[in-house]
Amino acid sequence: MAKLTDGQVVFDKIDFDAGWENAIVLANVSPEEMKMCYICKFHIVKSSRVAKANPDLLDWTVDLINMKKLDFSPENLIAVHYGCLTLRSKLDAKKIINRIKKGHWEYDFEFYKSQGEK
Ligand SMILES: [Zn+2]
Repeated sequence: MAKLTDGQVVFDKIDFDAGWENAIVLANVSPEEMKMCYICKFHIVKSSRVAKANPDLLDWTVDLINMKKLDFSPENLIAVHYGCLTLRSKLDAKKIINRIKKGHWEYDFEFYKSQGEK
């Protein structure tokens, strides 16, 4: 479980797994490979988890769904891009996330293929 160390929240493997589990599913990609960031709607690659001192903006970490309470239980954690941590619009994102989860989201293979060909 996450703990507060020197004013910084440190997450452990169980927290990362829970955050990944709660992230938005892309219907056409294995959830073991990719999920979607609810903040920017861009995909998150599971293998690109924050692991170094200066993470890339598209690396992922876990964030609290509802920041109004300091609740580190698994159901309050969600995977987001490191670069999106400061872009969230609401302290309590539960409604936003539930609304997004009702939608159908897919990874756009054609788009990224065409980007690669340029
Ligand atoms: Zn994002």
